[in-house]
Amino acid sequence: MRALVYHGRNDIRFEDVPEPEAGPGEAKIRVGYASICATDIEEWKYGPTYITSIPTVMGHEVAGRVADVGDGASGLAVGDRVMVDNVLVCGVCYWCQSGSQATCPNMEVAGLGRDGGLEEFMTWPADHLIKLPDSVKDEEAPLLEPATVAVHAVRRSGVQVGDSVAVLGVGTVGALTVQAFRAAGAVVYAVDVRKSSLDMATRLGADEAVDASAGDAGERLRELTDGIGPDIVVETAGAARTPLDAFDWVRRAGTVVLVGIYAAKPEADFNVIVGKELRVIGSVAAGAGDMRAAVGLAAEGKIRLGELVSDRISLDRVIPDGFERMAAESKDVFRIVVSPDA
Ligand SMILES: [Zn+2]
Ligand SMILES: [Zn+2]
Repeated sequence: MRALVYHGRNDIRFEDVPEPEAGPGEAKIRVGYASICATDIEEWKYGPTYITSIPTVMGHEVAGRVADVGDGASGLAVGDRVMVDNVLVCGVCYWCQSGSQATCPNMEVAGLGRDGGLEEFMTWPADHLIKLPDSVKDEEAPLLEPATVAVHAVRRSGVQVGDSVAVLGVGTVGALTVQAFRAAGAVVYAVDVRKSSLDMATRLGADEAVDASAGDAGERLRELTDGIGPDIVVETAGAARTPLDAFDWVRRAGTVVLVGIYAAKPEADFNVIVGKELRVIGSVAAGAGDMRAAVGLAAEGKIRLGELVSDRISLDRVIPDGFERMAAESKDVFRIVVSPDA
């Protein structure tokens, strides 16, 4: 069968690989859709960063149907629609045992350390497959993975009902983060420079979309928060300047959550963190229960995924119509979803 395989920086190949079979405790999945993430582009152009095994079939955002069930895999039947809970942790290290699974040093992630979903069939532990509710469509299901990243950031932030939250950067993860904080009862301001992103934030329920290209966004955020700044600023853009903006714009004794993946290494004045007594939190991947929460929020319509599907392409076009387009300077898409059937 055909698969998109990562061989190293600037070396991804669409090639033949053996069709996998379900081992003990695993299910074999016929991939429905997998989506292409900015992380995939980072790995292609600048990696390997999070990729822990080479070669690896790419695709960490993936959903499909159970095609076969291995020995000892319970709770699933052939034909079930499932989302791949893509983070596997060891369960026995210090971090797993103290509730911080996202930092397990033995973590393996689909598409980054184990074969992912940019192929026709993949196998995965049956206890890390989550049945999809009917209300989540096949083509939007892979976006439950970035939605899980958003849910994890909400949980890491310690947000309280009624808090004001600014989300910097409204790409896919940013748009999902806006919705996840709204679902947690926060007042949410979305900040971006792109009109398509600001429109998307408004459509998905941001209390205000702040256009950072049109003036001082920090000033506007202070106006919206009685002159003191947001309680929490979440950085999802991953640009050189935006983490520094987050430190500047959050209120004194506020919280900054860093979610972006940073290609550049900006120089920062750490006195702003000390002087304002900021809490700066990193948030990566997901912890126990985060994906189930994301599936539940999507089922209830509190997180909408469908608007973020910008295009659907077939697997054999994954490099020219998927990766090349996502890597373009003038990237005009949120998520491109890839199907072996399309
Ligand atoms: Zn991703
Ligand atoms: Zn562990």
